[in-house]
Amino acid sequence: MNFHVLTLFPEMIEQGVNTSITGRAINNGLLSINAVNIRDYAFNKHNSVDDYPYGGGAGMLMQAEPVYLAYEAVKEQIDKRKQEPQKHPLRVVYLSPQGDVFNQKRAEELAQEEDLVLLCGHYEGIDERVLEEIVTDYVSIGDYVLTGGELPAMVMIDTISRLVPGVLHNDVSAEFESFQDNLLE
Ligand code: SAM
Repeated sequence: MNFHVLTLFPEMIEQGVNTSITGRAINNGLLSINAVNIRDYAFNKHNSVDDYPYGGGAGMLMQAEPVYLAYEAVKEQIDKRKQEPQKHPLRVVYLSPQGDVFNQKRAEELAQEEDLVLLCGHYEGIDERVLEEIVTDYVSIGDYVLTGGELPAMVMIDTISRLVPGVLHNDVSAEFESFQDNLLE
């Protein structure tokens, strides 16, 4: 399974998932982590990616354009690998405290995807215009507010990865664990 993380802090994602069970699965080619720096797609000379909200309001938002360009670059990469534009829409999860709360059932469903894009916000969030354009799922990891979407993205990667065949050793099967069939182990 291939995770593509759109973030302002790619090193945080790389360091967080390149260890332990996920690190081993990456080395074995069962998972790949493509941490894309949204700042690389900033188009102003100061490389800034924040702006005042378009319709007014408090705080700063991440600009729509760099996020959209980073998404397009990932989509192009995937289409190229598969040698044609995909008919099935690419799943793009925006990590947001306003989203549906993540659980094991959602992890099982997302683990069926070959490619999954995780979009991490910062500041007061991301300009709504790009979210409307590219996001398919809004997911929260709990009813509290973090400074950014990187830790939530890592929580999702860790949980989903355990469900990818071969990632866990046979003796630590995910099949008989808590939350399967709504039961605790
Ligand atoms: N202004 C936003 C609100 O009130 O809903 C909160 C923005 S938060 C400070 C910055 C970013 O952190 C969000 O865009 C999101 O990506 C991430 N984030 C914060 N809390 C989260 C949570 N509980 N679950 C998922 N992502 C979260």
